[in-house]
Amino acid sequence: MIPIKAFGAINPNSDIAPLNVVRREVGTHDVLIDILYCGVCHSDIHMARSEWGPSLYPIVPGHEIVGKVIQIGSHVTKFKEGDIAGVGVFVDSCRTCPSCRSGMEQYCDEEMTGTYNGYYRDGVTPTYGGYSDKFVIDEKYTLHIPFEKDLEKVAPLLCAGITTYSPLRYAGVGPGHKIAVLGLGGLGHMAVKLAASMGAEVTMLSTSPSKEADAKKLGAHHFVLSTDKKALKGLENHFDFILNTVAAKHDMNKFLNLLKVEGKMLLVGIPPEDNTFGAATLISKRRSIIGSMIGGIAETQEMLNYCAEKGITSDVEVIAMSDINKAFERVIKSDVKYRFVIDMKTI
Ligand code: NAP
Ligand code: ZN
Ligand code: ZN
Repeated sequence: MIPIKAFGAINPNSDIAPLNVVRREVGTHDVLIDILYCGVCHSDIHMARSEWGPSLYPIVPGHEIVGKVIQIGSHVTKFKEGDIAGVGVFVDSCRTCPSCRSGMEQYCDEEMTGTYNGYYRDGVTPTYGGYSDKFVIDEKYTLHIPFEKDLEKVAPLLCAGITTYSPLRYAGVGPGHKIAVLGLGGLGHMAVKLAASMGAEVTMLSTSPSKEADAKKLGAHHFVLSTDKKALKGLENHFDFILNTVAAKHDMNKFLNLLKVEGKMLLVGIPPEDNTFGAATLISKRRSIIGSMIGGIAETQEMLNYCAEKGITSDVEVIAMSDINKAFERVIKSDVKYRFVIDMKTI
């Protein structure tokens, strides 16, 4: 086993603090990654605190990982020592079900193996995430990072980037479409950049008046306060799509009403308590809600290549590992610009 330095929680109420954990030895198909940066996703907070049901403790969060390959197994062909590699939200899946065979491993019939808060396929060895100095992973579930610099801004693409890219592509968002992005946090700011890059007209719907100038800089054409009832009234039946990234429980009716006939809400935010909506709100205009979870390995690589080509990265605040508990509190207060990323040299 390989001992690693890690930070995590030991129960739902504990701070994120140093932990002693081990990873498996580097297998024939594995790469060993020296982690450079790891993003802080709101899902890390939901899971560290068991907000989605009981998590496995100790828990080492972190699934927006970029690092350098420092060792490879004897059968590895995709990577060599020195390559920059990425790890996202899952590290394995059954590999044989229809979803796995069609490149949608995240929807595996036998459940993807989460980068943390899960067990490897043996069912007994726990997975630990990227708030740590080293990572061991099968090359098949490892991403090539087509960026040479500013790698701290690239790490968030591994979750926030793919989680917004995948539904935008699935829905065919592009020129001529009006899309609203709901919630300007980690996912929301990537959604604005990506939807604008795909040619759509983007409106930011936010609860935070202070974020207007930033939203425009990120590429939003319009900014509307989602608490402004009059402004929302004027936008009824207006959008082709709404990408909903909100991390807290909310009434979706007021936003679903902003969709045109056959408009679609692309739902990615996962509040601890279920949102509410009325059947009539959907039925009266044949609107629909499409849930979407991250993306498969091939699509994640496609997204990374797309972002490299377009020069799209994340806007980040780099923090030391010791600042993680303060960062969690700021994320919860919607006070992040727009993703915290841990510099793993500080662990
Ligand atoms: P985040 O950085 O905290 O952003 C969420 C944003 O939602 C906030 O910045 C805030 O934006 C808005 N918001 C917060 N509370 C709100 C409330 N009560 N009412 C209305 N708006 C509110 O979180 P994130 O990392 O982007 O993640 C967002 C959600 O997506 C989380 O639930 C996360 O677990 C989930 N997620 C899902 C997937 C997936 O595969 N589907 C992947 C990753 C994350 P404003 O200040 O602009 O209002
Ligand atoms: Zn995430
Ligand atoms: Zn499968």
